[in-house]
Amino acid sequence: MAVTRTFSIIKPDATRRNLTGAVTKMLEDGGLRVVASKRIQMRKEQAEGFYGVHKERPFFNDLVAFMTSGPVVVQVLEGEDAVARNREIMGATNPADAAEGTIRKTFAESIEANSAHGSDSDENAKIEIDFFFTADEIVG
Ligand code: ATP
Ligand code: MG
Repeated sequence: MAVTRTFSIIKPDATRRNLTGAVTKMLEDGGLRVVASKRIQMRKEQAEGFYGVHKERPFFNDLVAFMTSGPVVVQVLEGEDAVARNREIMGATNPADAAEGTIRKTFAESIEANSAHGSDSDENAKIEIDFFFTADEIVG
């Protein structure tokens, strides 16, 4: 396995409850390193662009409203097989299905307000990192 990068978002339900540190600790304890991080208020157009693959899904408008409902923390994470590792640490999309000890089992409020985002492939990780970060903002 190689050291790779993935993209993470600490979602508004988690920032609202002051869980930025708690979520980040779970990522770090799971073997990932935060090599870029910033707290932003996503604009509607940004959220629509980021979740463009989901625009035909019934939950798209609600998801955009949720992701713009408060600040998020966008991060680049680095580690062994980072995409898969991050998704293991996050757990299943629906917290009801997520394994014990995962971010979503521990913190998520619902399938929508599920506290964290993680890229689903190396290819999408690169696209998502480039969507939010310039190269000089990432320091490994
Ligand atoms: P993410 O992309 O956020 O890491 P994921 O890959 O586990 O999560 P996706 O299928 O890509 O899940 O869905 C993106 C996001 O859309 C989910 O994290 C969740 O916030 C929301 N979502 C997914 N399915 C539903 C649903 N059935 N109802 C409401 N919101 C949903
Ligand atoms: Mg996804």
